Amino acid sequence: MQRLRVAIVGAGPAGIYAADLLTKAERSVQVSIDLFERLPAPYGLVRYGVAPDHPRIKGIVNSLREVLDQGHTRVFGNVNYGTDITLDDLKQHYHAVIFATGAIRDAELQLPGIELAGVHGAADFVNWYDGHPDYPTEWALPAESVAVIGNGNVALDIARMLVKRPDDLLSTEIPDNVYRGLQDSAVTDVHIIGRRGPMQVKFTPLELREVGELNDVDIVLNPDDFNYDESAKLAQQSNKQLLVIDRIFNSWLQREQSGASRRLHFHFYARPDEILPDAASGSATALRVERTASDGSGGVVGTGDFREIPAQQVYRAIGYFGSPLAELPFDERRGVVPNVEGRVQRDDPTSPGQFNEVLPGIYVTGWIKRGPIGLIGHTKSDAKETVEHVLNDAGNWWNPSHPDPHAVNALLEQRGIHYTDIEGWHNLDTYEVALGEAVGRERIKVVSRDEMLRASKGE
Ligand code: NAP
Repeated sequence: MQRLRVAIVGAGPAGIYAADLLTKAERSVQVSIDLFERLPAPYGLVRYGVAPDHPRIKGIVNSLREVLDQGHTRVFGNVNYGTDITLDDLKQHYHAVIFATGAIRDAELQLPGIELAGVHGAADFVNWYDGHPDYPTEWALPAESVAVIGNGNVALDIARMLVKRPDDLLSTEIPDNVYRGLQDSAVTDVHIIGRRGPMQVKFTPLELREVGELNDVDIVLNPDDFNYDESAKLAQQSNKQLLVIDRIFNSWLQREQSGASRRLHFHFYARPDEILPDAASGSATALRVERTASDGSGGVVGTGDFREIPAQQVYRAIGYFGSPLAELPFDERRGVVPNVEGRVQRDDPTSPGQFNEVLPGIYVTGWIKRGPIGLIGHTKSDAKETVEHVLNDAGNWWNPSHPDPHAVNALLEQRGIHYTDIEGWHNLDTYEVALGEAVGRERIKVVSRDEMLRASKGE
């Protein structure tokens, strides 16, 4: 039987689903898979993107772990594609590669004042509170009033983590430094800024409802934002999620303020115009927004009515953006590796920006394929499409000079790369659980890469 050796780069849900589907697909070849991950732990955005107080979504780790534990797939953690292993290395050792590296940085926002001290990208804050080993362990939270720009689930995550009582996070895996950082927070008011209306939000109902149930937090709404025009009514009637979202807002509009010590304000029809600096310190002090009005078809127009929202910190949560990968084409406009149904395409030298020619042996799946939209589950159908192409493209596979599975281990060892494997992950997992047990918590996440590597080795 013909043998297919596939490398997958990125051990998040996208990469692991692709591995799972490759092993399960009906096929006439024997498949062996190696999964490369730059971090010492797998699970990508589930471990380093999902908020710690979302145990249901964090629980996806269990099904991902089952895939890895089946033994069809070898894991090489702490291996960075582009430096520790190159495209040329992959061509010499595999028949094909699937990149599943996701989208981990914030989309740019062109806004006067965006460069001021106190202005942050949501992804950086997420990386801090999720204990990403490559990010600083300190995060100052001196602001009493904070603005979060965006009406998606990431904006809700940021706002919730800012207003939530740190002790209510002790049932989660948050690292110690994050607990201490949140305890030192001065925040009393968080303002969520949406440039369009309540019926154009990207929130999902479950995540929205959750912020209304937080301990010691009042929700503040402007009733004027809920005088829907025909287009908003149509959106609400044609979308079940929006119907539920509308019910949630309505129930909040009926609520009395409880005098809670923290408040979450929703500002709709508020287009960010400028982040204003404090005259003395030069850091952010307010977000100026322009009131917008519905244009009757889901968009908005400016009204010329400006107001200032106090904000000594401003977070932009306006979507993630993919990062280029060494030696691969990249669509700078969309932040993805250009592809047709997961088959990577090359830039057309005669018309730059047009990606026409398929590159044999190179595939993508997940957010680096389709952009940073959709929930984790959507990644499965994405992987299915990519995997089908990998299996059907036998005539275009690479012809590796070192197909022996041990050759990759030898290569990494020769380069002095301290890679981890699935046993290493089990060791780290046990270590984190033990850290938690010692203080009556389920788990405490390890942040330092060195400590992760030591724990992986069972030291
Ligand atoms: P998103 O859902 O695309 O939301 C981005 C938000 O930013 C939109 O409200 C958008 O408004 C706004 N925005 C974009 N450009 C803007 C600008 N220049 N000025 C003001 N506002 C701007 O992105 P996301 O929140 O990063 O989420 C990414 C994906 O991850 C989504 O599928 C999300 O559901 C998922 N996710 C899920 C969870 C969960 O707990 N289930 C948690 C986090 C993320 P417009 O609509 O007007 O463009």
